[in-house]
Amino acid sequence: MGEFDLIKRYFDRPELRPGAAMALGPGDDCALLQVPSKHQLSISSDTFVADVHFLTDMAADQIAQRCLAASVSDLAAMGATPAWFNLCLTLPSANAAWVSCFSDGLATQAQACAISLAGGDTTRGPLTISIHAMGLVPTGEAITRSGAQIDDVIMVSGSLGDSAAGLQIIQQGDTTHPLSKRYWNPTPRIKLGQWLRHKASACLDVSDGLIQDLGHILSASGCGADIQLQDLPLSAALLANVSPSQAQDFALSGGEDFELCFTLPAHLVAVAQAYSLSQNLPLTAIGRTSAELGCRIWNEDKGLVTARQGYQHF
Ligand code: ADP
Ligand code: MG
Repeated sequence: MGEFDLIKRYFDRPELRPGAAMALGPGDDCALLQVPSKHQLSISSDTFVADVHFLTDMAADQIAQRCLAASVSDLAAMGATPAWFNLCLTLPSANAAWVSCFSDGLATQAQACAISLAGGDTTRGPLTISIHAMGLVPTGEAITRSGAQIDDVIMVSGSLGDSAAGLQIIQQGDTTHPLSKRYWNPTPRIKLGQWLRHKASACLDVSDGLIQDLGHILSASGCGADIQLQDLPLSAALLANVSPSQAQDFALSGGEDFELCFTLPAHLVAVAQAYSLSQNLPLTAIGRTSAELGCRIWNEDKGLVTARQGYQHF
């Protein structure tokens, strides 16, 4: 199958256009996308390299779902509504069965996130997937990393550490375990991100591990943090599969849970807890920002477990 047949057949399907309308979609030199008035376009790019960002021998539909979810998660973290994405696909060969399966997974995730495929590029080479996700946010309302204030409450959605444990379970051969699914099918917190506009002072998605990512908020906002280890949200599935200390380790530095970590003025915590109940989505307070720089992690008897100087550039 030639490059153009492959694009037409697998990437120009109505199932891949469940999101915002396009003045012109795939097929011409460019797509044409209309940004509604009083909105900004938020755009985020991610490259996923086989055996670095995903396991090559995972099913192609699982790879597609994971890559698109990870990209859309960046839109969620800014409070943007997903609209369009571009897909740059580098494939070792034009394997129709693999591409067909990839396209189905992509369509499943595109529908879950209501995002439309606008275009892309298809080339031959080592398996690499690059996604450029675009969202819409009312002008000036995006939630950045730099707005945290001293004495804000630090909160996270869902549970942490599941994805890291899931990757281990997949490597042992079980791709259907609930924790495995948290690795290959993470849930971008799109609705939560939008709800947090005008409420959260700073927000990001946890892709590199809570401590490292929280460090980005702290350095961008010029404050420090105190985190209570016993307050980290750990799922029953995680605790049933690994030791308590391994679970905490995964939660602090495992990464790729794609939950939102945000700072909230203390007077809004009750509102967030009510929202959490109404959405059946845990939102857990794990600590506070402080004037003292760095990130300190405390255990139950108030002993200092570790202190980190937050953000590291390299
Ligand atoms: P050009 O050579 O003009 O850059 P291409 O031949 O690379 O264009 O692509 C032709 C059309 O197919 C473009 O509209 C492009 O956006 C679309 N396209 C190519 N690869 C993909 C893909 N993997 N997914 C979606 N659209 C794609
Ligand atoms: Mg062209």
